[in-house]
Amino acid sequence: MRFAGAAIILGSVRIVAHVDMDAFYAAVAQRNPALRDRPLVVGADPKEGHGRGVVTAASYAARRYGIRSALPISRAWRLAEAARRRGEPETIFVRDDHALYREVSARIMAILVPAGDAFQKTSVDEAYLELSSLGSFDAAVERARQLKAEIVSQEGLTASVGIGPNKLVAKIASDFQKPDGLTVVRAEEVQPFLDPLRIRVIPGIGPKTERFLHERHIRTVADLRTLERAQLAEWFGRWGEDLFAKARGRSR
Ligand SMILES: [Mg+2]
Repeated sequence: MRFAGAAIILGSVRIVAHVDMDAFYAAVAQRNPALRDRPLVVGADPKEGHGRGVVTAASYAARRYGIRSALPISRAWRLAEAARRRGEPETIFVRDDHALYREVSARIMAILVPAGDAFQKTSVDEAYLELSSLGSFDAAVERARQLKAEIVSQEGLTASVGIGPNKLVAKIASDFQKPDGLTVVRAEEVQPFLDPLRIRVIPGIGPKTERFLHERHIRTVADLRTLERAQLAEWFGRWGEDLFAKARGRSR
């Protein structure tokens, strides 16, 4: 049970999966066949452009209009209107239904819990699974395929899964091919996988850190890796030390 902090078994390969539901809130709403494949926005009432509050989630079709979670709902409404005037499909706005999300989430987590040596839920639609006891990445891929299929058949929802030698790499991998992705990064593939990616993929690098590093011509993980540990520590303190490790695919 590695997530509880148990000892490392020497010589054994560590395998972690990160399961992330695809556009979860929007996808739950879109189980209604009338809403399927439509541009859909979940969040506050847009009140014809005068609503307050933000977008909780946008379906992939709505994202093509530039609508993203955390955007003001009034702005989302204007983007949807602009698309409609261009002759594109109309966007449907639905209110949040937190009770329903919790219910669906609980059923999905119940599918995941028994599938790993340890389980850690990190949000309503994300969890880590420790799969080291399967003994090989191939077996972990097979387990991930089964889980994805089970979630589709029981809930009609897709998930993206990342598999890696630790939680950091698994998390970045789950985001690599969305939706309905399955990305495997074996220990020896970690650096070639990470190097070409934008620094923003590293958990903890937000807009502020990204801007700071861009100003210093650091754009990819490979760029980040050229920096000395001392340089990162000077800029960011303890977090700089973390960043040095993360750029090398190491996580605690
Ligand atoms: Mg998600």
